[in-house]
Amino acid sequence: MNKIAFTGNGTGKVPDMQGLFREMTALMTRLFPICRSITGDGFRESLKIISEYMPLTVHEVPTGTRVFDWTVPREWNIRDAYVRNSSGEKVIDFNESNLHVMGYSVPVHEKMPLSKLREHLHTLPERPDWIPYRTSYYKEDWGFCMTHRKFSGLREDMYEVHIDSSLRDGHLTYGEYYLRGQTPEEFLLSCHACHPSLCNDNVSGMVLTALLGRRLSSLSLRYSYRILFIPGTIGSITWLSLNEEAVKNIRHGLVVTAAGDPGMSTYKRSRQGNAEIDRAVEHVLKHSGGLYRVVDFSPYGYDERQYCSPGFNLPVGCLQRTPHGEYPEYHTSADNCDLVRPEHLTDSFLKYLSVLNVLENNRRYINTNPKCEPQLGSRGLYASTGGQSHAAADRMALLWLLNMSDGRHSLLDIAERAGMEFNIIHAASDALLKAGLLKDGQPCA
Ligand code: ZN
Repeated sequence: MNKIAFTGNGTGKVPDMQGLFREMTALMTRLFPICRSITGDGFRESLKIISEYMPLTVHEVPTGTRVFDWTVPREWNIRDAYVRNSSGEKVIDFNESNLHVMGYSVPVHEKMPLSKLREHLHTLPERPDWIPYRTSYYKEDWGFCMTHRKFSGLREDMYEVHIDSSLRDGHLTYGEYYLRGQTPEEFLLSCHACHPSLCNDNVSGMVLTALLGRRLSSLSLRYSYRILFIPGTIGSITWLSLNEEAVKNIRHGLVVTAAGDPGMSTYKRSRQGNAEIDRAVEHVLKHSGGLYRVVDFSPYGYDERQYCSPGFNLPVGCLQRTPHGEYPEYHTSADNCDLVRPEHLTDSFLKYLSVLNVLENNRRYINTNPKCEPQLGSRGLYASTGGQSHAAADRMALLWLLNMSDGRHSLLDIAERAGMEFNIIHAASDALLKAGLLKDGQPCA
């Protein structure tokens, strides 16, 4: 019988919360400053750090590779950038924030008046102290992003504009960890890792996935797990295009992102809508004791868009906190390490583990004594007091299991029907198996 080490839902091993807080904060602090993009050395540097948590295979896909209707773009790298006024003062400096340069800006070094420079400046007038995040992956351009307050103070002048970047044939890099379980059936965890210093979107997802990968690698698992650290959109398209054969093994999947803001958990269902992953996540959220939201699939958002495109239609949902665009800090310099709190990241982490726990242990059983109820008292199954091996298996859970274990209903079906938490039903099924009243556990996938 497989067991995820702990579930966060009251049973199993209690995690060392302070230790988790510390670890998550430390990893977040290391990843946050790196200037990542959909290609380039910042992405590689991030994968190197994540490799300390799991043995990642790093793939390099050459520029120009056709991936379905797309083409792997040129590789972008940046060393420095600034705008300097005629007094020699840097009014914008990449070294102060990597958000100051629009992602994929082509190299430029020239002098220009404010009127021309202004065409390349991006600000947020309604949030005058925040720097926006902008990219131009597929159109050659250059730009700077700055606070509106500083922008408003720019005087007429000749400015020296310098972007020391390169946009050349190179590679799209992604990291992959395949962890073999008892069956080749797979659980896909997909994390985009292409944003520069933006913490909730997307350093939080990288941190959660890194710690999840390390945790999983220490467990005996039924499913095989495939963990991807990819650039958003082009990364999932590239992976799907190069791995069509592997796709057939995917039974469940989650896109990991926005894991650390203070908002409630939000689950976006897979396109299938009622896949086992959808039901497992909804069950965990329902029994989490906190507020949560479940929304239907829509073809906008993160990489679930690609996994759930009609040609694949994989059971992949997205478990996050506040969705993109629904919190004011999204894609601005205010999405920083102050927005992401370790207690929220830890809460998200425990929910992910709970979901994996449900799916790892969800099976169908058959009642060996289906004609009328078996006598539970004579088997010691009514004495569900503390200290016994079946302490968690309360009487109603036993009765529901015996009644519905006809080989067609899974433990999750029974938990839902009984209105009970999965772990209570699961513990009761263990007690009935030991007593010989259930047999032949069948996996559900
Ligand atoms: Zn984003």
